[in-house]
Amino acid sequence: MSTIEFSDELIRNPPFSDNFDQSTGGFSEVDVQIITSGGMRIPAHRSILASSSPVLESIIDRPRKHRSSEITIPILGVPCDAVAVFIRFLYRPMCTEEEMDKYGIHLLALSHVFLVPHLKQRSAKALIERLTIDNVVDVLQLARLCDTPDLYLKCMKMISSNFKAVEYTEGWKFLQNHDPWLELKILEFIDETELRKKKTRRHREEQSLYLQLSEAMECLEHICTEGCTSVGPHDMDPSKNKGQCSKFATCQGLQILIRHFATCKRRANGGCSRCKRMWQLFRLHSSICDQPDLCRVPLCRQFKLKAQVKKGDDARWRLLVRKVISAKAISSLSLPKRKREEEATDHLGVRSFCL
Ligand SMILES: [Zn+2]
Ligand SMILES: [Zn+2]
Ligand SMILES: [Zn+2]
Repeated sequence: MSTIEFSDELIRNPPFSDNFDQSTGGFSEVDVQIITSGGMRIPAHRSILASSSPVLESIIDRPRKHRSSEITIPILGVPCDAVAVFIRFLYRPMCTEEEMDKYGIHLLALSHVFLVPHLKQRSAKALIERLTIDNVVDVLQLARLCDTPDLYLKCMKMISSNFKAVEYTEGWKFLQNHDPWLELKILEFIDETELRKKKTRRHREEQSLYLQLSEAMECLEHICTEGCTSVGPHDMDPSKNKGQCSKFATCQGLQILIRHFATCKRRANGGCSRCKRMWQLFRLHSSICDQPDLCRVPLCRQFKLKAQVKKGDDARWRLLVRKVISAKAISSLSLPKRKREEEATDHLGVRSFCL
């Protein structure tokens, strides 16, 4: 095997430059030769290799017939220049962005095989920054082989959110033919992501409904206590209450519903869905109300008494009550101000609930 010339890059940054012996004006004696796939020989020093990589250390320490003979270590299967960058990293732990562009995947593989965690982190990070639709499947396979969970997860996420495009890549076609197990893993990940998204959406919708209900409860109380806009208690003129209602949309819907409830002819035989809804809101209020003796909301005491008689028979109702009570607390605690304002406008939808 012949020694071939180093690439330009390597001449500018020889691997052993840090081993430069100032006193003699030359390098300390080279005692290892790294041999690459292209037949290139990279001279190096046992002490540096052994202290940077436990795998290289064990290769160097392996018993030999002739103790004095120079050690050769083959590093095959990756481009010569990638091996050169790798060896140089062991001397001086730095890589340029350009080297990462060219050899990122090789450096990840080399750092994994030779147990060089610092380089492994560096190249995994570089690969994350360089993920594209075209390379993501290949990088995913490498990330799995090299046991780099961050990179693996990033690839999965990218594939999952760009699956339509990824399906047309060479990498995906190759994977389908050669690694059905990983293909299955990817499809499972996509399913789980979809499921998680659906759950989050459903949770958000539920929270929004409970919040609407909790707002409706506040409106019901202030309508029945001091009156609002056009509806109020029988002994009070609501129009005297001039201030703008802070929950106008909800409050207006509720007022229309209350006026309907007061005059509906079909209510008596239970055939009116709007009356039923009003009935439910009165019941919900009663479940939440902690001052039934002073309360001016219609039916509050009656529902309380009825609930005492039937205690413990309606778990779903109790759950609803708990959720409505906590929805308000959660939303006012967890949402930043701007988000709260957005939510408030969303709740214009409560009109459809009340009407
Ligand atoms: Zn109001
Ligand atoms: Zn009705
Ligand atoms: Zn009450």
